[in-house]
Amino acid sequence: MKILKDRYQRTINYLRISVTDRCNLRCQYCMPEEGIPLIAHGDILRYEEIHRLVRVYAQTGISKVRVTGGEPLVRKGIVDFIAELSAIPGINDLSMTTNGVLLKDFARSLKTAGLKRINISLDTLNPDTFLSITRRDKFHDVWAGIKEALRVGFCPVKLNVVTIKGENEKEVLDFARLTLEFPLVVRFIEYMPAGESSWTPDLVYPNSHIKKEIQSLGELTPVNDEENNGPAVRYRLNNALGEIGFINPISNHFCHSCNRIRLTADGHLRTCLLNDEEMDLKPFLRNGCDDEKLKEILLQALGTKPKQHQIKEAHFKKCQRTMSAIGG
Ligand code: SAM
Repeated sequence: MKILKDRYQRTINYLRISVTDRCNLRCQYCMPEEGIPLIAHGDILRYEEIHRLVRVYAQTGISKVRVTGGEPLVRKGIVDFIAELSAIPGINDLSMTTNGVLLKDFARSLKTAGLKRINISLDTLNPDTFLSITRRDKFHDVWAGIKEALRVGFCPVKLNVVTIKGENEKEVLDFARLTLEFPLVVRFIEYMPAGESSWTPDLVYPNSHIKKEIQSLGELTPVNDEENNGPAVRYRLNNALGEIGFINPISNHFCHSCNRIRLTADGHLRTCLLNDEEMDLKPFLRNGCDDEKLKEILLQALGTKPKQHQIKEAHFKKCQRTMSAIGG
């Protein structure tokens, strides 16, 4: 198997693909009420273009793929797309990040299509707060989607909780208690300066505070499981069915071990979530370039992957693209 390295000798094996910039929620910190100017349909990569890229990049060392968006489940034909992705030689980990609104209807067919793991974004357990954060009254649909994902046997099912001061930090213990009752992996993610968000440093609720709060429920035992190691620092409460994870991009970034690149919905290769530098693959894909050229562009892009994000630097500029277009 090939090993792909960037200029800082980090192994790059993980591609996150945004299949659409469309979304059926309007989370306050992600998109404005009226939505964002949408990428024209013709500029969105076709499924066959994405499949080709994954096939080529799997030959360079990419072995993990996550499908995200926008909301991936709103794109037509997503199940067949997943089935074809899962058949690509060399891709041994295929996952999806979804808001869960449509998951109840899709969970079983996604599982059958070969999706291995699923992450569901959910920032509150209170239907009214859900409406206020997402501007859509869909809490019960998401909860039904989570239960269906467990029922059809996805394992792990992870819940991604972005905590924002003054918004949902009061629910930390409720989320932690969920892991006592359900085999869910609840991950607290620090709020990041991306896209439409009105991010300021004082809105970040540091995970160190959350961890302390959760320790009031009992001891947190570290979980070390090499196989599922990502950026989350993981723990388990005594007798819990699930786990608690902390993803600390702000307070304790993990750039030194970053193994990711991203493909935006309009075909740009992006090597850092929080840096707007991108390489546009679409003209090459659409002008009949050969596979070697696509590999060459990947190597070129990796040459620009920053050592780390610059959030704490005075010159840091918030990303211009919204998370929905980058693929959060
Ligand atoms: N629609 C899918 C979903 O909701 O999971 C996938 C796309 S969404 C952009 C992916 C994740 O990015 C969500 O968990 C969302 O909460 C997160 N996100 C969006 N803006 C963020 C920000 N400024 N900081 C941290 N996470 C953010």
